Amino acid sequence: MISEKYLRKVILNADVYAICVQHALTTEKQEIMGLLIGEVDEEKYISHISACVILHRMDKQPDRVEISPEQLCTASMHAEQLANKLKRPMRVLGWYHSHPHITVWPSHVDTRTQAMYQTMDPLFVGMIFSVFQSDPRLRSNQVQLTCFQAYQGTSELERREIEFVIKSSPLQNYNLEGISNLPRILVQEEVDSHDVKDSNTQDELASLHNDSFKTLALVHIVSKVARPLCDDLEERLKAVNARIKALESLKKKLREN
Ligand SMILES: [Zn+2]
Repeated sequence: MISEKYLRKVILNADVYAICVQHALTTEKQEIMGLLIGEVDEEKYISHISACVILHRMDKQPDRVEISPEQLCTASMHAEQLANKLKRPMRVLGWYHSHPHITVWPSHVDTRTQAMYQTMDPLFVGMIFSVFQSDPRLRSNQVQLTCFQAYQGTSELERREIEFVIKSSPLQNYNLEGISNLPRILVQEEVDSHDVKDSNTQDELASLHNDSFKTLALVHIVSKVARPLCDDLEERLKAVNARIKALESLKKKLREN
């Protein structure tokens, strides 16, 4: 029996990792966020994360990644549907957000938000993806990931890093849906934010200007997110088909012998 109730380990499906990274790489100006779904081992305090929900941003200010009660509710419903479909006890296990151009470590706001979630669920986990961190010497972009929980230190809230492993897994149907929804969610965010701006302006020229920016943003989503995503999935399909072919010829050979 373990005395203190905090998360000991996170096992993250490779697909969920891929979705989160794709999501984080969609913008280098704002932080993106979402919720993590899976099963938890209540005896060993280990989380198995096998799905996620990409969320709309409510507030596009830096360091203001907030999840509304409605979003939490929608994610819980999604987890419940998955639980029914898979006949496994799936539920919301944590949240993730991105840190474009900054270190992976949680800010004070992040730690406070995390502590709040833990009052509802002591095993709730926070995940941060640091993206667009470039090292001029390496000429490459780095992606870093941390899993953390908050705890009350002697004087202030502190963070505890949680060990995690990324587990390879076949692409699940529900994760494929999640990833293909990404461009649609981004488009919706753009349309919503431009419509708000547009309703405040009466000036024709300003409205024309805003419209052209909206078009530009939408074209950006298609060319920088949707198309690469399609290419990626097509490559994946090719790889899977090649693997099926190889396995079938192996089967044939084994039958012949
Ligand atoms: Zn943060």
